[in-house]
Amino acid sequence: MTCHTSAGLQKIVDEAALHTAEGEVAGYIPALADVNRHDLSAAVYNLKEKSCIYAGDYQKKFSLQSISKVLVLALAIQDRGYEYVFGKVGMEPTGDPFNSISKLETSIPSKPLNPMINAGALAVTNMIKGGNSEEKWHRIRMFVGRLVNDKNVSCNETVAKSEFETSWLNRALCYFMKQHGVIKGDVEELLDIYTKQCAIEMNCFDLARAGAVLALDGKDPETYEEVIPADIARVCKTLMVTCGMYNASGEFAIKVGIPAKSGVSGGILAVVPNKCGIGIFGPSLDKRGNSIAGVKVLEMLSNRNHYSIF
Ligand code: GLN
Repeated sequence: MTCHTSAGLQKIVDEAALHTAEGEVAGYIPALADVNRHDLSAAVYNLKEKSCIYAGDYQKKFSLQSISKVLVLALAIQDRGYEYVFGKVGMEPTGDPFNSISKLETSIPSKPLNPMINAGALAVTNMIKGGNSEEKWHRIRMFVGRLVNDKNVSCNETVAKSEFETSWLNRALCYFMKQHGVIKGDVEELLDIYTKQCAIEMNCFDLARAGAVLALDGKDPETYEEVIPADIARVCKTLMVTCGMYNASGEFAIKVGIPAKSGVSGGILAVVPNKCGIGIFGPSLDKRGNSIAGVKVLEMLSNRNHYSIF
């Protein structure tokens, strides 16, 4: 596995970096406000050459935030099966913000619209198997570690704690769902695991590698061992297309046209089926919570290489 800089990718990153001043870093999780909004890095893991190109400070770590939702979904479906998971969480996109509570009350039956919004993701984390919260968190950590080449991934404790202490809206979503039987058990314990999964740290190269697993229908891009069953990888990629970029998923599908999942840390995990996995970090966000420059990088990459799946 080789990893090297790329003048072509660097040019794209430099061009996209002109847009970092247009957005804001996420401020509602206090520890996330503490980053340089002009940072921008990208990595592309090519399946054919088993090589990775990068541009920018590709070693810089960031927390996954909502990107973790799609990875934990893959584990939850393995744990509980498709019918169980989608019996409790829907699979339809929403035009509402990722942390919206409104549709929870009006959807019939009362269940979150999809696993990529906070309500749905909290319900999915609630399904992870384990004898106690330690074990559930350990299983999430090991699974994400497997996606990035058996690395011992861990969470940024400061970010996790900062979110846990300020998660009033996520608490509200959980209590609403508990009332309606969507989740069970202790809400504080669930929030502890959820905020830790959101605070899992990696760099854009690791993220590109996780994308490569999805690009290869769930197989390890180096050993070809199954990490995620192919049918589950397909479900994850489909939800990334329809719901992965929050309420900007439609525009992203037209402009970029590949499965992607963003997080409010500024990370984006993107997948070009059978070609490559892409990891981006650019913490300056647009109004919907997507990395402004990160989306520009993906737009340019997709246009130049004809990545759109449509
Ligand atoms: N941890 C964040 C939250 O629940 C994740 C949101 C996001 O990345 N959009 O608010």
